[in-house]
Amino acid sequence: MPDTPDTAPTAPPDRSREPGQGLTKEEALHRLLEGHWRYLENSRLQRTVTAADRGLHAQGQYPFAALLGCADSRVAPELIFDQGQGDLFVVRVAGNIIGLSGLASLEYAVQNLGVRLIVVMGHENCGAVKAALDVHDAPGPIGYLLREIAPAVEVARTAPGPLLDRAVECNVKHTVNNILERSETLKKYVDDGQLRVVGIVYRLSSGDIEFHATAG
Ligand SMILES: [Zn+2]
Repeated sequence: MPDTPDTAPTAPPDRSREPGQGLTKEEALHRLLEGHWRYLENSRLQRTVTAADRGLHAQGQYPFAALLGCADSRVAPELIFDQGQGDLFVVRVAGNIIGLSGLASLEYAVQNLGVRLIVVMGHENCGAVKAALDVHDAPGPIGYLLREIAPAVEVARTAPGPLLDRAVECNVKHTVNNILERSETLKKYVDDGQLRVVGIVYRLSSGDIEFHATAG
């Protein structure tokens, strides 16, 4: 019998349970942007979550991107990027600053979960950034938060255009820089070409995102 070539189409391998879902930094960003487009088009995927899905989730997590965002109720990453349970490793804190626990969380996502993309997401009309513009000192934990944002605000004061918008943009860039300055581990991943860190601003009014920083 002559050999007959196998011409049957083969489905792409399911990589959803590999570290980082097997995605490169470029592929991870592409997947996020595809989801954001669905969000903008009001065509988010209709996802079901079955008992079997929950069983798989209980066995392990395989997010393909990490995101540091503001705690603001209007900027939920899974909605804005139309992603499902288990897709995004998310750290949220008012003003999207990077503290020690946030940094440890991002290092875990990269080192242990194989994530190759970190997104820092600020947003239009951020109350924490506005407070850092308006208030020069405050006691307790809020004072700490404002002091973390303060250097970005001072840079923004020298830039043209609406002050709060500029301050939000500067704060995103400042956080991206802080991540790379404060984490030798993440800096090394970036320098080795394995990790990308991007800083974006989400516009509440339009749903658009704007890129303001990229490393790696
Ligand atoms: Zn905010």
